[in-house]
Amino acid sequence: MTQAFDIVVVGAGMVGAALATGLGQSGFSVAVVDRAPPPVFDPQASPDIRVSALSAGSERYLRSIDAWNKILNMRATPYQRLAVWDETRYPLQNLVPRKLIAVEFDATELGAHHLGHIVENPVTQQALWQTAEAEPRVTLIHGHGISSLALSSESATVTLDDGRELTAALVIGADGARSRVRDLAGIGTTRNQYGQQAMVISVRYQGPVEDITWQGFHPSGPRAFLPLHSAGLDFPGESWGSLVWYDAPDELARLKALDDDELMAEIQSAFPSCLPPLTHIDARASFPIARQHARHYFAGRVVLAGDSAHTINPLAGQGVNLGFQDAQALQGVLREARRAGDDLADRKWLDQYEQQRRPANRRMMLTMDVFYHLFSNQVPPVHLLRNLGLGAARALPFARNRVARYAMGIDEELPPVLKQVTARIPGLNQR
Ligand SMILES: Cc1cc2nc3c(=O)[nH]c(=O)nc-3n(C[C@H](O)[C@H](O)[C@H](O)COP(=O)(O)OP(=O)(O)OC[C@H]3O[C@@H](n4cnc5c(N)ncnc54)[C@H](O)[C@@H]3O)c2cc1C
Repeated sequence: MTQAFDIVVVGAGMVGAALATGLGQSGFSVAVVDRAPPPVFDPQASPDIRVSALSAGSERYLRSIDAWNKILNMRATPYQRLAVWDETRYPLQNLVPRKLIAVEFDATELGAHHLGHIVENPVTQQALWQTAEAEPRVTLIHGHGISSLALSSESATVTLDDGRELTAALVIGADGARSRVRDLAGIGTTRNQYGQQAMVISVRYQGPVEDITWQGFHPSGPRAFLPLHSAGLDFPGESWGSLVWYDAPDELARLKALDDDELMAEIQSAFPSCLPPLTHIDARASFPIARQHARHYFAGRVVLAGDSAHTINPLAGQGVNLGFQDAQALQGVLREARRAGDDLADRKWLDQYEQQRRPANRRMMLTMDVFYHLFSNQVPPVHLLRNLGLGAARALPFARNRVARYAMGIDEELPPVLKQVTARIPGLNQR
């Protein structure tokens, strides 16, 4: 059986589900396909190990497609403050109070109610699936992957693993970092594997829900705390949190093999003293981290969005926020193409999408690389340089706050002076 749509989206992760919903709401007929079963949310269950810091810009976008309230009705934890500091050991370090060496961003100083929300990925995904299912122009197919893709000058045909065929003017690959759509379209990538991996640990701690997320940079990698919701009546006075420990793969393999008591002891000696007292380790998982960028964002009748187009070091939690920006840009461009009466796969429009998104995604990737190399380094001049940088950030609250507003998605653009500086970063416009 063959079904015809304007657009087929492969992958209903956070980015694909948002795109399908937004395109359906814009009047396109859309099929969205995911090989996984529907995400589940159980309000009594402990938090999912996969969580993301969603920026104010992502919140605005998710509100515009009617998904944000559904997220709030499940679970989301706002944070008002964000702090970063250098944890490299040096003589007399213990004599310097953290508040003098940390750079802290506060929502009130930025004229915002909060800086962002920490949300479990399946919560965001489920809110988006509910919104997609409520949209009559969107057909959500789950439990089936794609087996092949045929492209012609007239249309694209996606064949599912149960033999069903879906035809459309355009196929969007939103099927994640190991995108099959990207491979089937013959789009290559550039890839750099970092020397570190990330271990995420779900924990309960004693105390009320914290309003701060923080990250201490050690030479072996950052160690971060993200606050989650209250642990409720079952564990009075306790709250959930998520820890992220970046380190060499061997060290993380050693930590992962420890029992809960041993891991708890390691966390207590390795994490900064501002970590609230932990009461329980619920789950742990490690993730490889790589910077990967598709050489092209489109080919023929295929276009990429989210992690299929780019993956970024998660140390500043920007991956899905960039994916949502892709989604908004692609929706805008496709609406323009339709208004002009053009083929949705017309290269003029897909090129416009790539022109909008590639430099912005690359700028963020390079910024993360600068952080990674600067902080994973014990060479004294580099240590001095990064502390001069953090010192400057503390001393220049105006510039710092403008950059923070941009990074949090509160402002759409960097201030003009800083845009000029980043435009000079070598390789910004390379693939
Ligand atoms: C440790 C860690 C922490 C992170 N923290 C943050 C953070 O704080 N903030 C942030 O913004 N980002 C964060 N990220 C990044 C974020 O998780 C990703 O950017 C985001 O999940 C990408 O979403 P996506 O929808 O593009 O892809 P995915 O989430 O990978 O979704 C792809 C979907 O496609 C489906 N699929 C795959 N192949 C097929 C196929 N062949 N056929 C049909 N369906 C298919 C999958 O089932 C899946 O549902 C973090 C990442 C890591 C590893």
